[in-house]
Amino acid sequence: MSMWFDKVIDSLTEHQIINDSKTPSGKVHVGSLRGVLIHDALYRALKEKDVSVSYTYGIDDFDPLDGLPADAPAELVDMMGKPLCNIPAPEGSAGTDLADHYIMEFLDIFKELGVGAEIYRMRDVYRSGQFNEAIDAILNKVEAVREVYQRVSNANKSSSWYPFQVVCENCGKIGSSEVVHYDGKEVTYHCRENLVSWSKGCGHSGKISPFDGNGKLPWKLEWVAKWHTFGITIEGAGKDHCTKGGSRDVSGQCLKAVFDEKPPLNVPYEFFLVSGAKMSSSKGVGSSARGMADFMPPELLRFLMVRSPAKRTVNFSTDLEYIVKLFNEYDRLIDAGLRGKTSDDQNSIIRMTEVDDQSTAYHPVSFQLLVSLLQLPHIDIKEEISKRVSDEFNSQKYQDSLNKRIASAKFWLDTYSTPEQRLELQTTLPESVKALSAAQKALLNLLGTNFPTENLSENEFQTYVFDMARMTPIAPKTAFAAVYTLLFDKNNGPKVGSLFSYIDSQFLINNFKQVEYSLDDLCNETGMNETEFDQWVSEQKEEIVSIEYQHKINAIFPVGSESTENVNIRGKGFVELTIVLGNNKKHLLRILVSDFEGVGIDLNSELGGLEEYGKNYISNLQKNLDSEFIENSSCISKEYQ
Ligand SMILES: [Zn+2]
Repeated sequence: MSMWFDKVIDSLTEHQIINDSKTPSGKVHVGSLRGVLIHDALYRALKEKDVSVSYTYGIDDFDPLDGLPADAPAELVDMMGKPLCNIPAPEGSAGTDLADHYIMEFLDIFKELGVGAEIYRMRDVYRSGQFNEAIDAILNKVEAVREVYQRVSNANKSSSWYPFQVVCENCGKIGSSEVVHYDGKEVTYHCRENLVSWSKGCGHSGKISPFDGNGKLPWKLEWVAKWHTFGITIEGAGKDHCTKGGSRDVSGQCLKAVFDEKPPLNVPYEFFLVSGAKMSSSKGVGSSARGMADFMPPELLRFLMVRSPAKRTVNFSTDLEYIVKLFNEYDRLIDAGLRGKTSDDQNSIIRMTEVDDQSTAYHPVSFQLLVSLLQLPHIDIKEEISKRVSDEFNSQKYQDSLNKRIASAKFWLDTYSTPEQRLELQTTLPESVKALSAAQKALLNLLGTNFPTENLSENEFQTYVFDMARMTPIAPKTAFAAVYTLLFDKNNGPKVGSLFSYIDSQFLINNFKQVEYSLDDLCNETGMNETEFDQWVSEQKEEIVSIEYQHKINAIFPVGSESTENVNIRGKGFVELTIVLGNNKKHLLRILVSDFEGVGIDLNSELGGLEEYGKNYISNLQKNLDSEFIENSSCISKEYQ
């Protein structure tokens, strides 16, 4: 029991009321989902512990419009200062008012994510009179409230300051009204022209009851009223509210001063950042909660928000590398769960990420592969995948999961991918293949020549590339880079074995076989001298099962020349060995024996000299090794340069 949410609720046994809230003053930012899901995690953890609990989520729609939303029509400027719930919804909106317009799509996400909160709206709370008692108590104890402001946050409030604002009876604005007196039944207020910079008051003065929705408390005292009225026991807040002398502190002390009650358990939580920039709904930067929920499958979004402790910043990035890592971590977790290999903590996280107990976004086809497959021409992705996975993953449940991640991969490609990240399967050999090393070109050619004709699995194809890399020989990483160059004109990409499995074999064979290379250059890059070879053999000695060898002469002629007569030729003599080890892996090695150059060189006599040397060398090797030796017939190859 060491997940952060289990720790927070560890000592709680009595009935709990969890609360969180949001002001619907614009398109809701994805950062707002962190609080929603942190509270939901606590709610679920308590339910699992069989502690009686409810989770309420308040829409602070009685707040004034105090900034123009990024997508707002120009005429909205005249509405600044009015309660959000009293401003008409934009034309064409299904919302009943501006607040409803913005919160609707956010609340849709609650359903998609399986968030168990009961929603309430502050307009209803005020208008129904639920806050009347708290408002009366707060206004009656205004001196104690002023004292808290002074003591806790060093805010000097005058003796005529009251923590309340009414909706001006003349202009309908709440943001510009100032209450200066309370007689126990009614407040006296002025609608001030210059109280705030963002809204101009009309100058009206009046006297009105503060109850039943005629006005509202400022949000620090609204917190107090909520905690007192609803009996809230747990309410976390963004870390920026939780500093010493900050709003959370002020609210807690006011609750004590007015009602002599203790504030709910605080769970300060850190920001959710996208590519390092703090999210702010008022500035309209970053991505919206709706956008994020359109991108990420709900389970992944829950996983992202809930797996890290509340106090740790989540640095989300739309970079492919980050998204792939996130999906892979999720996949590893679910995969371990399916195999019954998860710890208690991991099981906790799995339960926290589920939308319901049937939901998953897991599928054995990785996000990265899907992103690649979506870009390959002529592929019916679902059909091809279904051929390659076990029956279990062709069931409806995992088909749904697959659909979710295909949608996610498409969204990423359409929305976030950069031209450098996109893959375009090259139908002809890209120019960049020419610049590859001889070993890379030799590998590509080898891949084409030996390409398996049977249907291999992704892993078997991956093994095939490793096999061909040892037979070149070339380091695997460099080998893969060569494949990406040929396929996509890039030096990286998704798992090669997967690509081979999905791309048409004949297309691959044709393209690989077109790659030409110089054996002479290959010898220069990969050839060994005797000492290096002896070293290799001594390291592998115990493992060597068999050695197949061949004497080779490679001669380089000037382009156009037909015979050796009167032509300057050069070349190499080498012994090529294919060594099989105990693990059944084959290694190809080349011992460079001779370099020759001159006019009228007799290649047969060069070969004779090479064979004489080679046979001697091999016979010494045979004395030292208890392995099978197979000699292949010698050969002379010609190369034109
Ligand atoms: Zn007014």
